[in-house]
Amino acid sequence: MEELAGKHVLVLGLGVTGRSAANFCAARGARVIAADERDAADLDSDELDAAIATQLGAPFPDAADFDLVVPSPGVPPQRYRAGARRVWGDVELAYRALAVPIVAVTGTNGKSTVTRLVEAGLCAAGLRARAAGNVGDAALELVGAPLDVAVLEVSSFQLETIETFRPRVAVVLNITPDHLDRHGSFDAYRDAKARILENQQPDDVAVLDFESAATRELAARARGRVVGLRSHGALEEGAWLDGDTAVLAAPGAAPLRVELQLQLAGRHNRENALAALAAIWAFGCDVERAATGIATFTGLPHRMERIARVAGVSYVNDSKATNPAAALRALESCQAPVVWIAGGRGKGLAFDSLTDSAARRARAAVLIGESADTLKDALAGRVPTHAATCLDAAVRTAAELARPGDVVLLAPACASQDQFRDFAARGECFRAAVHALEENQG
Ligand code: ADP
Repeated sequence: MEELAGKHVLVLGLGVTGRSAANFCAARGARVIAADERDAADLDSDELDAAIATQLGAPFPDAADFDLVVPSPGVPPQRYRAGARRVWGDVELAYRALAVPIVAVTGTNGKSTVTRLVEAGLCAAGLRARAAGNVGDAALELVGAPLDVAVLEVSSFQLETIETFRPRVAVVLNITPDHLDRHGSFDAYRDAKARILENQQPDDVAVLDFESAATRELAARARGRVVGLRSHGALEEGAWLDGDTAVLAAPGAAPLRVELQLQLAGRHNRENALAALAAIWAFGCDVERAATGIATFTGLPHRMERIARVAGVSYVNDSKATNPAAALRALESCQAPVVWIAGGRGKGLAFDSLTDSAARRARAAVLIGESADTLKDALAGRVPTHAATCLDAAVRTAAELARPGDVVLLAPACASQDQFRDFAARGECFRAAVHALEENQG
């Protein structure tokens, strides 16, 4: 990759991604300053290379004084764009340094799950594949690893800071309103996601969800081959579901039919598995073998994770449902009556899209956090609601409301930061509260 040696590099943000970017640049001889406005006590900076200078607990330095700015995904462009000579996020750096092709996955919901499914499928098909991005390691940790292919989860924030990033296969799962505070509008959010396609060449493949106009229309921007995804119904070139069978069709050839066996609950996960298989197919691997890998994947924590059955009631943790579209899919995945725990920090998105599904499935809703009142209004007259001061209390209230055979579902439709560090801490709190119920049962 282009020399970093001797360059004056400013890394903004010292989370997992920022630390890995700072170490990466320092290891290649750059003079790195890593800045974070949080105080040292709130940061985990021990893993930083000794050669890296840090500036903590103070406003960011002037980007104009550096050859290269490497922003963490959480740092918005307004913070560095004026004056920065060159901006490369970690995904751009990884692309420049990785010697292997990339399968990249974006979308509003389902990225982590699909990234992991692609990794499992490619490995089962005999390739050395590793997933990174938001699912464990940062993308730069893959540089130098013995691999045939890198599978990267990429967010809209990361795509804002690419320049030449060119995945061999780009997957766009779905685009529904989220992060509008950061992007300003739905169109700007979609445009950021669409950047995954901007450097592709005719040999590359874009796997696009054709179920919604927002992603189908991206086909017009694709420079490579387009493989469409439908939940059912045929396509000339694409993949769709016929019951539990994935059908993969290319012009001029008989469609391939592959049975999908899945350990993951919910229709959305069947669609996720289809997207993963289509990406693997587009990459040119044996999809029959890949499907055996997909079948072994047991799911990620905090995504439709079954915690326990207590007094005949199942407790499911979908803390990662941080927007209304994700919570909708979680609700729709439940066959039994649901006691739904929702709420948290709203993202300025309406909850009306949830009302009908909740009315069909939820026996009651237990509402927490800053958006409890807004959710209560959205459900008024359709679903009985109860307020709880914290998630612990919400679990106890839900346990009282649930009847044997029901599901208590945590699918907040909101961010967690009003009460928790992140969605994982919220999920862990739910898990602990359910285990406490179990112990009380004795
Ligand atoms: P991401 O990495 O994009 O946040 P995850 O795989 O972590 O995606 O899933 C996040 C949440 O989104 C899940 O908990 C589930 O509620 C929902 N979800 C997963 N897949 C889909 C999908 N294909 N469409 C809509 N919602 C989904």
